[in-house]
Amino acid sequence: MIEEVILCKFGEVVLKGANRQNFESALVKELRRRATPYGTFKIYFKQSTVYVEPQDEFCDMDGMYEAAKKVFGIVGVNRAAVCEKNMDAIKALAREYLPEKLAGKRTFKVEGKRSDKRFPLTSIEISKEIGGVILSSVRGIKVDVKNPEVTVTVEVRDDNAYIRAGQEAGAGGLPIRSSGRGLLLLSGGIDSPVAGCMMAKRGMEIEALHFESFPYTSERAREKVMQLAEEMCEFCSRIHVHVISLTHIQEELRDNCQEDYFTILLRIFMMRLAERCAREYKCHALITGESLGQVASQTLAAIEVTDSVVNLPVFRPCIGLDKTEIIKEARHYGTFETAILPYEDCCTVFTPRHPKTQPRIADVMAELNKVDVEALLDEAYATMTTETKLVYPEYR
Ligand code: ATP
Ligand code: MG
Repeated sequence: MIEEVILCKFGEVVLKGANRQNFESALVKELRRRATPYGTFKIYFKQSTVYVEPQDEFCDMDGMYEAAKKVFGIVGVNRAAVCEKNMDAIKALAREYLPEKLAGKRTFKVEGKRSDKRFPLTSIEISKEIGGVILSSVRGIKVDVKNPEVTVTVEVRDDNAYIRAGQEAGAGGLPIRSSGRGLLLLSGGIDSPVAGCMMAKRGMEIEALHFESFPYTSERAREKVMQLAEEMCEFCSRIHVHVISLTHIQEELRDNCQEDYFTILLRIFMMRLAERCAREYKCHALITGESLGQVASQTLAAIEVTDSVVNLPVFRPCIGLDKTEIIKEARHYGTFETAILPYEDCCTVFTPRHPKTQPRIADVMAELNKVDVEALLDEAYATMTTETKLVYPEYR
């Protein structure tokens, strides 16, 4: 029987000097956690590659392969057949393994790689020999070194030889949990789930905070947000979702403040509550889905105001993206279809007819002081509840 393994190629991680070992171990640990539902695998790092080796015939290789494609820090994923490091064994394996992999393909090339320099054949000689085996065992296929449909790679490494046909792109970025933790302000929209996934791609562990305004927003709106968080777990693995009620704050703003300031005032409350939550749960940045100029609350003047009320860095990875670009990312991360389901958001409750797009900080603060800010913050924070979403039930 052919012995197959999954090889995951490191991305940027390779370049990270002194930090390199932390990144490697974060990546290996995450792959181990991700492997749990698919059986018993031996997972280890060697020569810029993570080896994922099934330990028995019950392992779900297809499931593991798909999961590996969603692990940040990996640039390329492939399945490879393994054999002893001698040319007879490699040729025999190529003859047995490749015809099925190359069926229906028109052109190929072989890339021989010899990291063990004591191996008697050079990389070019390996390529030639295996090219010959393919031409004689796969019907109708031709060599094309410039623009092949498939590249077959034969690698002679320290322990074994590996043969693979093609490689798929991995998720890229840096391994999750390698860059600290950030608190995502998660609405039910398209943008904030994307913002969370983008920061997770930079190695951040994501914690989420959602604001609701029950009964002005419904139970279904909250469920939608929970579903989005669950979908994000395909890439983010685990997300604690905190929910805070803004109902009383919104009623107080409606009853006491000028209507055109509602939006910006509400955002100030959101940011202040988010900062509190971030400090309690040891998150060192806030993350939002804002995109410059997209709506009234996302003008530079409004962003300046909301930034000025918190003392944590605020990351807005979508800030320079167009809506079409954000949608493309949302499709990639698998959150788009849920995000477009109709729902109410607390931002759409008591929406002013003419929100201030160029608020001055002094004017905003004067409006804000018409309500008892600190008491409202305490009261709202006390409504917080937390649910945990996981990529699979036993993920730890
Ligand atoms: P999204 O598509 O993420 O909902 P949006 O384009 O609707 O964004 P806004 O409603 O102005 O924009 O919200 C801007 C950002 O503020 C959101 O991306 C999100 O980070 C945060 N936010 C808005 N509403 C909520 C909410 N109900 N709970 C938590 N965060 C929110
Ligand atoms: Mg929104």
